[in-house]
Amino acid sequence: MTDLTSLTIAEAREGLASKSFTARELTDAHLAAIEAARVLNAYVLETPDRAREMAMAADVKIARGDGGPLAGIPLGIKDLFATRDIRTTACSKILGNFIPPYESTVTSQLWRDGAVLLGKLNNDEFAMGSSNETSCFGPVTNPWRREGSNTTLVPGGSSGGSASAVAALLCMGATATDTGGSIRQPAAFTATVGIKPTYGRCSRWGIVAFASSLDQAGPIARTTRDAAILMRSMAGHDPKDTTSVDIAVPDYEAAIGKSVKSMKIGIPREYRLDGMPAEIEKLWSEGAQWLKAAGAELVEVSLPHTKYALPAYYIVAPAEASSNLARYDGVRYGLRDPGKNIIEMYENTRADGFGDEVRRRVLIGTYVLSAGYYDAYYLRAQKVRTLIKKDFEDCFAKGVNAILTPATPSAAFGIGEKGGADPVEMYLNDIFTVTVNMAGLPGIAVPAGKDTQGLPLGLQLIGRPFDEETLFSLGEVIEQAAGRFTAPKWW
Ligand code: GLN
Repeated sequence: MTDLTSLTIAEAREGLASKSFTARELTDAHLAAIEAARVLNAYVLETPDRAREMAMAADVKIARGDGGPLAGIPLGIKDLFATRDIRTTACSKILGNFIPPYESTVTSQLWRDGAVLLGKLNNDEFAMGSSNETSCFGPVTNPWRREGSNTTLVPGGSSGGSASAVAALLCMGATATDTGGSIRQPAAFTATVGIKPTYGRCSRWGIVAFASSLDQAGPIARTTRDAAILMRSMAGHDPKDTTSVDIAVPDYEAAIGKSVKSMKIGIPREYRLDGMPAEIEKLWSEGAQWLKAAGAELVEVSLPHTKYALPAYYIVAPAEASSNLARYDGVRYGLRDPGKNIIEMYENTRADGFGDEVRRRVLIGTYVLSAGYYDAYYLRAQKVRTLIKKDFEDCFAKGVNAILTPATPSAAFGIGEKGGADPVEMYLNDIFTVTVNMAGLPGIAVPAGKDTQGLPLGLQLIGRPFDEETLFSLGEVIEQAAGRFTAPKWW
């Protein structure tokens, strides 16, 4: 039998149905792989007992013929999703011992469909970061290394644990969240597929909030098809999230392999940055040629407000974060550091519980929302946001079906290499991804090639609102042309 951990979800689904192996065997293979890969620090909590229990329940259902679309498929869950009776921390000391009495809507839908929980995955503290280095559990290691080097690289962030675990075969797929790029950038750094759905497609209920008008859940998987399979279970209307949209969930998998003939693909000229590495340029034009070869039409488009997206994001996101994080005051959740009165207790708890990056965001957010600065920063950023959204609308109004861009401005970098002296250096990672969150659009990152050092690079496709299907069809074309990339095992 081939190693069960290297199967795709689609292959495992078939193997389970044909009784080539059981869900329990599939889960045990993953639990063993997780144990042998602790050096990657992808999981912050392993739940082997729960996993075996769920796998055995799946086996019973599969035998009865009512297994559900994800029956017996072992998944990892980003530690931002509340899991009932299972510690959920957002990788922050302030939530260090929080055990939710409820389950997030997205994860409850995965369990409804028969998936198995292997454990909780590492991420940047409160999902703030692009390298997974701000986690209170320490950084995650990317299973990919530069050829001939054993320098430890970051997997990207904030969903670094999800991307690393999927790439290292420590789960068949993972949940992730994306506020400014946290699904797509780590996917690009690890040769995995990640999709941020349209804002409102997946319920945010039970997901630790970072910036509520930008946050969206989505899957990270090893193939476009697997991402489509997971999306179908994760998406859907939820009355508990007022921003969740009541539109039927399509069979995303049916979009895999669908013709992309005569689709119009926009190539935005503003994404051609000064000093962009030649290999990113090359990857981008190669991707465009693959789509053209499949029958799509390439058109140059303009998104003139792109250059304001990053600065505007770093006002809007911290503003919302400062408000969302006000609830961690030592009273209701997690950590409490005593003080001589309630104010001192708040101060002690928050000073002790939040890491540097989170504190920076709270300070920026409070500042841009304060009287006298609100109009100059927050309000202006909101106006910029409207213009960014309009750029995309104008583009789609001209018949463009999707927009092709690089996913990241570089390949994975070393742990400790970026953002030490200047946080903006880290923020620049999101240059190609934040516009999509600002506009509420769906975006997928698909592995497309490697750089000269053998590290994976990804391309991004941006779609019309609620047209994730087109992204899956186009993503599949790129995947078929580029092939799949597996990290050589060294751990
Ligand atoms: N890197 C971005 C930030 O730090 C985006 C993070 C995310 O998408 N959660 O805000």
